[in-house]
Amino acid sequence: MHPFMPRTVIFEPSALQYPVGEKIYRYFQDKPVEIIKTPLSVFSKTLSELSEKQRYAKSKTVLAVTRNQQKKLQPCKPSADYQFALVSNCPGSCEYCYLQTNQSYKPYLKVYVNLEEIWETIAVHISKLQKPIVTFEASSNGDPLAVEHITGSVGATIEYFGKLVEGRLRIVTKFNNVNHIINKKHKGHTRFRISMNTDYVIKQFEHGPDSVQERLDAAEKLINAKYPVGFIIAPIIIYENWKEEYRNMFKNIYEKLKTIIPDDLTFELIQHRYTESARQRILVRFPNTRLDMSNNNRRLKWGKFGQFKYIYQKEQEEELREYMHQMIRFYFPDSRIEYFT
Ligand code: SF4
Repeated sequence: MHPFMPRTVIFEPSALQYPVGEKIYRYFQDKPVEIIKTPLSVFSKTLSELSEKQRYAKSKTVLAVTRNQQKKLQPCKPSADYQFALVSNCPGSCEYCYLQTNQSYKPYLKVYVNLEEIWETIAVHISKLQKPIVTFEASSNGDPLAVEHITGSVGATIEYFGKLVEGRLRIVTKFNNVNHIINKKHKGHTRFRISMNTDYVIKQFEHGPDSVQERLDAAEKLINAKYPVGFIIAPIIIYENWKEEYRNMFKNIYEKLKTIIPDDLTFELIQHRYTESARQRILVRFPNTRLDMSNNNRRLKWGKFGQFKYIYQKEQEEELREYMHQMIRFYFPDSRIEYFT
């Protein structure tokens, strides 16, 4: 698939004082995009005049270039010790995405240019935690690799982590935009996880991310470049034929990578969940969605966004967990399952 190209790029004036901001500005000079220099608060007001559906559609064509001023990082269990953001939001538009909960009001994509300050915040958190290894998840607010051809921020951050003794970077992606980072000096300190699902889930609920084959090509390139690699299977959804289709998915991964499966391959397993606010927003944004969000079939669990989330009933959850473990043990007996949640 072609790499993401916005229709409108908003530069916050302060972002242009940073090398990454300048670089992005130069990148767009010969591209057919509308460039606007304005504070994001002013731009956001123009969106507030639109209906929810219009705002969502328009936002997916906008890239905002700004700064990340977060100094206190949030924990990111079970994936990492902390999460931080190089981007917020995503050019993709998956119906089940966690962004429907935590980035719902301003769904346009933001990229952050103040890398040195972001890295400084990371260094402070490493020294605070005083653990031999401190892990940082970069994909909790969106997919940073999706815009790497524009920002170069993932590559620069990989090299920053390559120099750290205690810090480790973790990135999840559904995009195959990996050519920009293949030659980075990562020293094995960045683990990429490719997000995978069945053909049905991808075709039915994902709009914008790269295809299964492209994601597997990305995994192959990353393994050949000696990056630690894993897969996130998320969201795991129960539907007719789900067992057969998840089996095919694992088989597909195996067939593609069987000659280069790394010793430290990992899997992370996340069952489908949603909050009530996300459910309502998804139904407005995707009125014909086939995503099963019947609350009566689910149970409630307290979630990190300060809201209850709906997850599968205990019996279904156990069936999912057991089946996924069984498949992974069959196709990848030497791999490690990091968690099921
Ligand atoms: S690619 Fe990932 S971050 Fe982007 S919309 Fe889909 S699930 Fe969300």
